[in-house]
Amino acid sequence: MPNLIDAAPARQEAVVAACPKQLYIDGAWSDAEGGTIFPVTDPATGQPLCEVADASPADGFRALTAAAGAQAAFAQTPPRERADMLTAAFHLLHERIDDLALLMTLEMGKPLAEARGEITYAAEFFRHFAAEAVRIDGGYQTAPAGGARFLVARQAVGPCLLITPWNFPMAMGTRKIGPAIAAGCTSVVKPAPQTPLSMLALAGILAEAGVPAGVVNVVATTDAGGVMEPLIRSGLARKLSFTGSTQVGRMLLEQCAEKVLRTSMELGGNAPFIVFGDADLDEAVSGALAAKMRNMGEACTAANRIYVHESVMDAFAGRLAEAMSQLVVGPGTGTGVQVGPLIDAAARDKVTALVTDAVEAGATVLTGGQPSGGDGYFFPPTVLAGVPRTARLAEVEIFGPVAPLIPFSDESEVIAAANDTDYGLVSYVFTNDLRRALRVAESLETGMVGLNQGVVSNPAAPFGGIKQSGLGREGGAAGIDEFLETKYVGIAL
Ligand code: NAP
Repeated sequence: MPNLIDAAPARQEAVVAACPKQLYIDGAWSDAEGGTIFPVTDPATGQPLCEVADASPADGFRALTAAAGAQAAFAQTPPRERADMLTAAFHLLHERIDDLALLMTLEMGKPLAEARGEITYAAEFFRHFAAEAVRIDGGYQTAPAGGARFLVARQAVGPCLLITPWNFPMAMGTRKIGPAIAAGCTSVVKPAPQTPLSMLALAGILAEAGVPAGVVNVVATTDAGGVMEPLIRSGLARKLSFTGSTQVGRMLLEQCAEKVLRTSMELGGNAPFIVFGDADLDEAVSGALAAKMRNMGEACTAANRIYVHESVMDAFAGRLAEAMSQLVVGPGTGTGVQVGPLIDAAARDKVTALVTDAVEAGATVLTGGQPSGGDGYFFPPTVLAGVPRTARLAEVEIFGPVAPLIPFSDESEVIAAANDTDYGLVSYVFTNDLRRALRVAESLETGMVGLNQGVVSNPAAPFGGIKQSGLGREGGAAGIDEFLETKYVGIAL
C-alpha cells in the first residue's frame, strides 16, 4: 500500500524544525535549567534528528507547581468547556495529521500509514472523553432507615503525573490527558526520551485548543527517576498514571505508597494467541499478522506466544510464514513500507538474542531470523516453528517482529499454558465453536480477549490488564473513573 504522505527530505526537515523542543510549563515554552539538551535519533538511520530540552528535577518541580496551582480553578471549569477543549484538540489533530504522522515516523520508526493510524486513534480518545466530560454523574439516595439522605458526587482527583513509553508516542498520552482534562485534573506529562517530539507537538495543539496555562505541562528528560521520584513523593501530586514495563511500574507503585497516590498502571504483556482446529485459517492468519506485526511487534498487546492446534499447524505455519515474508521492510517514510526499524540497537540485539536462544532450544526458522545489516535498527519479520514452551521468548516480551509457533493438542492444556505467566494483559482466541469461544475466553487470565480478531484497542472500550500487567483501565466509561474521586455527603433531614 503506498504511503500517501509526502515524506521528501525537505519536508522531513521542515516538520522536525516546526516542532517545539523546549519544556512546556505553565502555558509557556522554556529551556531546561542550565540549558541542557539531549538528542532525538531517527531509528531508521541511527542519525540524530534534533535536540530537545532535558528537564532537571527543578524543572519537574516547576511543572508540578504549575499543575498544582492551576488545579482548583480547572476543576471548577464547566464540563462543557472542558469538552470543547478536547473537541477542538481532536479537530486540530486531524487537520495536522500528515505532519504529525511524519514527525512520529521520524522519531519512532513506524511506517507512515501506522503513524497516521495512531494519530487517528490518539484523537479518538479526545472525542470519546469530550463526551464523557459532560456525563459525570452522582447520586441522591434515601438512607435505608429513612431520614438521612446520601448525596454522592464525583470530583477531580487532583494534579496527576503521567508517564508514557516510546512505542505509541501520541496515543499513550491522549489516553491519559483526555480523561484527565475531562475530569478536571491538571497534569505533568513525561514522555519517553526516545520519542518526545509527538508529545511536545501535542502540547502546542492543546494550547491552541484553549487548554489553560498550567493544566497540561510537558517535561522531557533523560533523568526519569531523578525528575519523577521527588514529584511522586512531594505530596503535591494526587495520582500517577504510568504506561511502561512491569519492572518500572512495580518500582513506581512502591514510590506512590509513601503519599498513598491513586495509581493507574498499564504494564507489560505476554499475549497468548490460540488457534483451534476449527478456526477459519484465513481469519487466524490475518489476525496473527495484525496481533504480531502492528508497530513492528513493539506493542504490549503483541501476540507473544502463538499456540496452534496440531491438526492445523502445518497449514497455519505455511500461510503465516508466506504472509510474513511478503511484508516490505524499510524506513517508515518509504513508499509501501509495512515494517519499520526497531526503536534502538538494544531492542534489535535483544530480539536477536531471543531468536538465537529459541533456535538453540530446537525451534526452526521458517522466515527471517537474522537482523539486517546496514544503518538503522531493522529486524526482518520472523516465524519460528516448533518452539519449546520453555524457550526464553515464551516467557518475556519479545517486542519485535518474531512469531513463535507452539503446538498443542487439547483445550485444557492450552489454557493452562496460556495462563502460565505473570502477565495478564490480552489474549487472542480463534475458533468457530461458540461454546468453546466463551468457555476459553472466561478461563483466560487476561483483562482483554480478542475473539476471532487480532486487535482489541478501541478508545470506547476499557483497556487494561490483570496480574502483573497492571491496575485500572484506560478508555471506555471506566477511563474517566481513574481521574475521579467519589465524595459522599450525609444529609440530616
Ligand atoms: P519503560 O522502560 O518502563 O519506560 C516507560 C516510561 O517510564 C518511559 O517514559 C521511561 O523513561 C519512564 N521511566 C523509566 N524509569 C522510570 C523511573 N524510575 N521513574 C519514572 N519514570 C521512569 O518501558 P518502555 O520500554 O519505554 O516501554 C515498553 C513497555 O511498555 C513494555 O513493557 C510494554 O508492554 C509497555 N506498554 C504497556 C502498555 C499498556 O497499555 N499496558 C502500552 C504500551 C506499552 P526512560 O525511558 O527515560 O527510562
